[in-house]
Amino acid sequence: MFKGLAAKVYELSGENVYLCYQCGMCSGSCPLVSVMDIPPNQVIRMIQLNMEEVLDSKTIWICASCYNCTIRCPRGLDPAKIINALRNIKMRKGISVVNLRKIPKVEEYPQLALVAASRKLMG
Ligand code: SF4
Ligand code: SF4
Repeated sequence: MFKGLAAKVYELSGENVYLCYQCGMCSGSCPLVSVMDIPPNQVIRMIQLNMEEVLDSKTIWICASCYNCTIRCPRGLDPAKIINALRNIKMRKGISVVNLRKIPKVEEYPQLALVAASRKLMG
């Protein structure tokens, strides 16, 4: 049905990015948008346009999966799920965002935080 990045996102999330009409509600609702390099609505637009460089954005790692955007999207889309799909696409390339071995004094961090970080940030 879809091609390129939109097809991969659909396969992993079941979300049809072409439903997005760029109202910006997701970005307006996002508590972390000020520290993202690309706001969530633009992330979705880049998927529509098959712009693979979206996979290099910091946004996909900054998203906290809080689902504010998801409950407010007037098109019933789930941007949090879409962003999670992008993380999975990136990690399937075997790319890790953090290397636990390079964190100084790793034993001083809470184990729960390390496990959560490794699940989210390591390929
Ligand atoms: S809220 Fe929904 S329709 Fe609006 S820009 Fe975000 S994803 Fe697209
Ligand atoms: S799920 Fe991610 S993109 Fe959506 S509002 Fe929360 S932090 Fe922002």
